[in-house]
Amino acid sequence: MTQSFDIAIVGGGLAGGLAALAFASKDFSCAIIDAGDPKKMRTAGFDGRTTAISYASARVFRRLDLWDQIAPHAEPIRDILVTDGRAKSRFDEGTVSSFHLHFDSRELGDDQPLGFIVENRILRNVMFDAIATHDNITLIAPAKRSATQFDSASAVVTLEDGQEIVAALVVAADGRMSSLRAAANIKTNQWRYRQTGIVATVAHERPHDGVAQEFFLPAGPFAILPMTENRSSLVWTEKSDAADAYMRLDDDKFRIEIENRFGEYLGALEPAGPRWSYPLAFTLAQSYVAPRLALIGDAAHAIHPIAGQGFNLGVKDIAALVDVITEGRDVGLDIGALTVLQNYQQWRRFDSAALALGTDLLNRLFSNDFTPLRIARDISMGAVNSIAPLRTFFMRQAGADIGTLPSLMARET
Ligand SMILES: Cc1cc2nc3c(=O)[nH]c(=O)nc-3n(C[C@H](O)[C@H](O)[C@H](O)COP(=O)(O)OP(=O)(O)OC[C@H]3O[C@@H](n4cnc5c(N)ncnc54)[C@H](O)[C@@H]3O)c2cc1C
Repeated sequence: MTQSFDIAIVGGGLAGGLAALAFASKDFSCAIIDAGDPKKMRTAGFDGRTTAISYASARVFRRLDLWDQIAPHAEPIRDILVTDGRAKSRFDEGTVSSFHLHFDSRELGDDQPLGFIVENRILRNVMFDAIATHDNITLIAPAKRSATQFDSASAVVTLEDGQEIVAALVVAADGRMSSLRAAANIKTNQWRYRQTGIVATVAHERPHDGVAQEFFLPAGPFAILPMTENRSSLVWTEKSDAADAYMRLDDDKFRIEIENRFGEYLGALEPAGPRWSYPLAFTLAQSYVAPRLALIGDAAHAIHPIAGQGFNLGVKDIAALVDVITEGRDVGLDIGALTVLQNYQQWRRFDSAALALGTDLLNRLFSNDFTPLRIARDISMGAVNSIAPLRTFFMRQAGADIGTLPSLMARET
């Protein structure tokens, strides 16, 4: 069977799902293809992560009429506290540096939080619901892409069951290990971190007051992110061999390890739900485009979660690509032509590569216990903390509210 669309999106994760809704809002017809079963992808057991959505990314969800369904489950981040130190253990009393960074959303002056913490489960469900009712989107899943042919007039995506999808443009949203990127001969720069992100949710006695904490420990950052219903999401980066051992601990021992890192500021803690672990790696595609192909999300750049920016980069990719191809179509150009797609590459590649490498550097600077480096970074943190314009600059960076913003992300006037 052969079906034709303006755009074929391979990958129905967070990036692919949002891309389909964004393209469809500009009247492009889209097929979205995912190897996974959407029923399973909607369940709590599929993905235990939360996403820190920057306030600029939240505007995209608003403009696509998705935010009203997300908002009841989105916890605003009012403050971010960053500290450096060592966790308490049998061998160490633990230390907390006297230098710290405090980002206060009130300093931005427009009563806007620094971002929102939302469970990935909620984001996926809201997107799948919207996709199911959209006339311009056809979800084809579970269905695995097996081959793709790029021709001068169109591209053909072949699925394992023999179906063929013909489109003017193919969007690779098939994640960090993108087979579509490889099929187009696009090379990557990549390395493993030998770190694993342990993710868990905890309920706690005291309110978090919308404060996100990032505690830099020698093995990697330990983030405590405020969630709705007075819960917090942990993103605990550990050396991979130690992470495997922590994952095997029983609930009581795991709670003690968390408490050693959390301290007591949230009172008694209770693990709420299972734990997940994600081996961490860096991947940056050397090109984001090829004739009739554009890469978005983790297929273009998979980065360390230290700054909670991976998906936010993908949201900006999507918003930029929407502008580029809508403009192309409106002046009668072929949306799959390389000359059109190069505008997307120009807009996004340098910006996302800089952020990807910045997060890599941050992780290398902080994930160690080398005394001279520790002293230097603590003094730098103290310095940034004491200069208000620098604090505001970093808050706008983290909010993705800088540079040329695509129309779906532009500030409300
Ligand atoms: C521990 C951790 C915490 C994070 N926290 C944050 C955060 O706070 N904020 C933030 O912005 N980002 C965060 N991120 C990053 C974010 O989770 C990712 O950037 C995002 O999920 C990537 O989405 P994606 O859709 O690009 O890729 P994926 O989620 O990998 O989706 C790819 C999809 O493609 C499908 N697929 C693959 N191959 C095929 C094929 N051949 N045929 C059909 N379908 C296929 C797969 O089934 C999958 O559904 C975090 C990441 C980690 C690991």
